[in-house]
Amino acid sequence: MPYAIDETHDPKLESWVESANDPDTDFPIQNLPMCEFELIDPDEDEDDRPRLGIRVGDSIIDISALEEARLFDGAVEAESFYYWCIHNAARASLADRAGLRTRISSLLSTTNDALRSNKWLCSKAIIPVSRTAFVYPDSEIRDYTDFYASKFHATNVGSMFRPDNPLLPNYKWIPVGYHGRASSIVPSGTPIIRPSGQTIEGNMGPESVPSFGPCKLLDYELEMGAIIARGNELGTPVSMAEAEDHMLGLCILNDWSARDMQKWEYQPLGPFLAKNFASTVSPYIVTMEALAPFRTPAMDRTDGDPDPMPHLDSPANRESGGFDIKLEVFLSSQQMREKGLDPKRISRGNFKDMYWTVAQMIAHHTSNGCNLQPGDLLGSGTISGPTRESRGCLLELTWDGDPFANPPKIVPGTQRTPIELPTGESRKFLADGDEIIMRAYCERDGFRRIGFGECRGVIHPSHEAR
Ligand code: CA
Repeated sequence: MPYAIDETHDPKLESWVESANDPDTDFPIQNLPMCEFELIDPDEDEDDRPRLGIRVGDSIIDISALEEARLFDGAVEAESFYYWCIHNAARASLADRAGLRTRISSLLSTTNDALRSNKWLCSKAIIPVSRTAFVYPDSEIRDYTDFYASKFHATNVGSMFRPDNPLLPNYKWIPVGYHGRASSIVPSGTPIIRPSGQTIEGNMGPESVPSFGPCKLLDYELEMGAIIARGNELGTPVSMAEAEDHMLGLCILNDWSARDMQKWEYQPLGPFLAKNFASTVSPYIVTMEALAPFRTPAMDRTDGDPDPMPHLDSPANRESGGFDIKLEVFLSSQQMREKGLDPKRISRGNFKDMYWTVAQMIAHHTSNGCNLQPGDLLGSGTISGPTRESRGCLLELTWDGDPFANPPKIVPGTQRTPIELPTGESRKFLADGDEIIMRAYCERDGFRRIGFGECRGVIHPSHEAR
């Protein structure tokens, strides 16, 4: 495995950036996630370009300022990071990525004075997060593919439409996915305008006549996004043994979904306008290096499921292809915010519950010779677990069926129990003014807890309603 546990994961490491030592921070010195930021209201003598940063505590470390001060000499081939951005970090060699992490960890550690003693450089390179705005992904993601890798999600959704046959026969053989759209992937905090589109009333049949208007069944999907590091040549598949070399790290992804539009449009070619109006990513990419202590076995298939085919299987993947990442979704309505009420947690799940690993997605995606490129985003698909609380979207969360109950309770997709909010409001799907907040973090005995920050978005009225 290319990503080993080393001295940068030592739970005893502390930083002289005091806020990094707060036990509740998502960003201790053991994390060091990448982001791309620009300064809000830069002074005349300050760099106003978007650039690569590393979050620690309540600060962003400006990587280009440290590079100009030659603090990476000997640790990183400067050429590979020339013009510092996520895209170029993705193109860097494994050795350079590891070198960058090791050097930053060392420079920020209480035992190292090289940066700390240079007050002028500190004032330039260590920026309070309140002075920054996040620009990633802007145009850095050139291609986006969304998978469907949770068997629990696929079974729940399948049960709504095909109670007798929820999982299609290909599900256990290929990581099902579709090509999404990169241009509408937006940073956390970007307003989400309710889409309009064609929808039908009731069940679909030969007599169905659609109407056009604002989506009535707007939903979120809790996913993780994998950012591709180096790409592969067109025509050259990536093997399972090499798949993780091609990963830069993970972020949180909200794949906003218009369920009524999806129902009308998805056959025969799959999701289209129901999905591509917006997808939100969290600002930080938690690197594969940082995630090394939080790996888990791929999902167990000893229960009668077919073994993955050889090109989708490896001993390393079986042993540690998964990620133990705890996930939470919160909803805050406009009324709740006006009354000063905290967002309500509506679900909890874990990324380890996926049927297919990211390495298997990469091997499958390239198995026909398709070329992935640095910075490409792979969405995991909605992350749902076996319990109602761990369902990763409202389509499942408010649905009354449960194919995993004993005995199974499978009902058509329209019977729903709404989520009650503390204002007395209730939701089966999202209303204008609702904010969805996703959080993710890793914890394990003997290691420092690390987090992903937040992935947020507020629903704004459709253009037609203005
Ligand atoms: Ca999705």
